[in-house]
Amino acid sequence: MTRTSENPERSASRRRWIVGLVLAAAFVSLALLDLSSWLFLRRMGRYFQDDLATHLVSVASLGARLLEAEYYPTPQSFQDDVQRSLVRAALLHLQVENDLQAVYLIDRDYRVVLASRAEMLEGEPLSYLVEDSAAIRQAWQGVPAASALHVIAGNRFLSAFAPVGVGAAGPAFVLAVEANAAFFDILRVFRRGLVVGTTLSLGLLLLFGATLTWSVRALLRAEESLRRRERLAVMGQMAATVAHEIRNPLGIIKGTADVLKQRYARPEQADELFDYIPEEVERLNRLITDFLLLSREPDLHPEVLDLGALVQKIAKLAEREGAGTVTCEVEDGLPAVSCDPGAVERVLLNLLRNAREASGTEGRVSISVFSRGKGRKRAVCVAVRDTGPGFPDEKQVGRIFEPFFTTKPTGTGLGLAVAETLVKAHGGWMEARNLPDGGAEVRFCLPV
Ligand code: ADP
Repeated sequence: MTRTSENPERSASRRRWIVGLVLAAAFVSLALLDLSSWLFLRRMGRYFQDDLATHLVSVASLGARLLEAEYYPTPQSFQDDVQRSLVRAALLHLQVENDLQAVYLIDRDYRVVLASRAEMLEGEPLSYLVEDSAAIRQAWQGVPAASALHVIAGNRFLSAFAPVGVGAAGPAFVLAVEANAAFFDILRVFRRGLVVGTTLSLGLLLLFGATLTWSVRALLRAEESLRRRERLAVMGQMAATVAHEIRNPLGIIKGTADVLKQRYARPEQADELFDYIPEEVERLNRLITDFLLLSREPDLHPEVLDLGALVQKIAKLAEREGAGTVTCEVEDGLPAVSCDPGAVERVLLNLLRNAREASGTEGRVSISVFSRGKGRKRAVCVAVRDTGPGFPDEKQVGRIFEPFFTTKPTGTGLGLAVAETLVKAHGGWMEARNLPDGGAEVRFCLPV
């Protein structure tokens, strides 16, 4: 049976996709669900409005027929008080029977002729009826009709109009029936609530999505760092064993080379062959030390010191050891920093070595030491700049601190990884970038 392990990067990106898809699906479903509920409520409102209008039109028509049959209403017949009170009572009866808000007769000037309710002043025009003029005009032409929904003094209502006492000159009056339509207010409140609820829930979903995405990213980062630590722990164990096994023979080789040099080197000839052995032994030793440094928490011995002065000292040392000319610029009045001078030396020498390798013997390498930030965020930074080709792209800049990442044929890819480990152990950080005029800058910053 074969077992394949999935590439962690692919699995992380698949998980990100799944989370994104689930969130998008939830967002779209919620929006669709709320939209369909909103449309349903609107349709329901229209249906009930049509239904109420039809009902009112038939009530108005029936009422008009009733008045015609019993009271023969004409402007002349309504001069009589007895007749007027009889018709008023009939209108009130129609109102109560059909659970209406008001029933009244109007003339062509929208004036109330007779009304079921005492507060409707007879002889006075009703200004709001102008809004219903289309339906009223239809009624004067002999066809009953309903108005649109109205809001008067905060009350919503619907009216219907029917012609009464149709003679040669058209109807004598128009009968108006008004019904309370507060129900539509409730529907509107529901619709508004739905819009507010949808907006809120979609907003919350977005917030939740952002938090989830952030958490997933943090989780994936933590997973990646755990994997890295595991890798390093395994490597550390190996490095410790290998270092132990290799260092002893290296010591013997170096000692032997020294003895051989003393015994056989001829002062009249430049016998650099004798120097190769100790140099290569030293290189192997450095490699082993890098391995060990990467594999365990660095053992720091911090001192409060002037980083500018320390950097100048290390730059001189590097020049003496063949790093070429290194110009050094230090900002005045830098605050003291607590750091391990040995660790700083190691970090800076690594950066200088890379800068020299990148810019070649003709290129320029410079260091500048300056402070950044304020208060608790204040730090002193050391930037190493060179005139080399710089980093080919952003992707590479993102990888240069990874252990074993190298673009050099004989590189180990441990220099910057070790440097970053040491800097982070001080609570500091490292950054790398291409300079606008060409060349690269790698800097480390230590908190004050
Ligand atoms: P190594 O020097 O053994 O390759 P490092 O960790 O020191 O390992 O560097 C990793 C990689 O970062 C280098 O191989 C190189 O590609 C890139 N790098 C580091 N410093 C510079 C620089 N000053 N200019 C251009 N590239 C650099």
